Amino acid sequence: MNNVCKVSALFLDRDGVINFDSGYIKSLDSLRLNYATIELAKICNENNVRVFVVTNQSGIARGYLTLEKLKEINEVISEHYQENGARIEKFFYCPHHPEGLLRKYKKVCDCRKPEPGLILQAAKEYSINLKKAWLIGDKERDVISGINAGIPESQCILNSSISLEELNTPLRYSNLMINAQKLIKILVS
Ligand SMILES: [Mg+2]
Ligand SMILES: [Zn+2]
Repeated sequence: MNNVCKVSALFLDRDGVINFDSGYIKSLDSLRLNYATIELAKICNENNVRVFVVTNQSGIARGYLTLEKLKEINEVISEHYQENGARIEKFFYCPHHPEGLLRKYKKVCDCRKPEPGLILQAAKEYSINLKKAWLIGDKERDVISGINAGIPESQCILNSSISLEELNTPLRYSNLMINAQKLIKILVS
């Protein structure tokens, strides 16, 4: 059976999953990528499963970084993935926060996780069957966002936040492998 039928998409949180979460990533200097996640994305891509990033970026509402800077950082992440043979289809981000400093982004929105807005945007734009989608996050709110969007709970993976020591760990030796093995099994079967 074709894997496309079994897994429709993988949603990844950014900070703590794709990269080391050092607080608010405001510049490229603080960007440290987790290579196990790139390998996992590659396995998805090889099985025609698209990979999306869904990320809360309230640093924008708080005035810690500009939208342009966020896009630049996301672009660099995408390039690293490409250089390693993986592909991120698109970044969906929430720039808002109810207590934000910037009036434009200070609001209660429906896209800040645990709200499901980012996943629903992606599902609409790419016609994704969320019943067959998977999600990996490092916070409870990531998982809740997935469940709120309609992804089955058993397909919403809570991985521990990537540590600095783990960054260069190959997928097969990583926590990510342990937590995502059900997904990987489906993909490579
Ligand atoms: Mg996170
Ligand atoms: Zn939002």
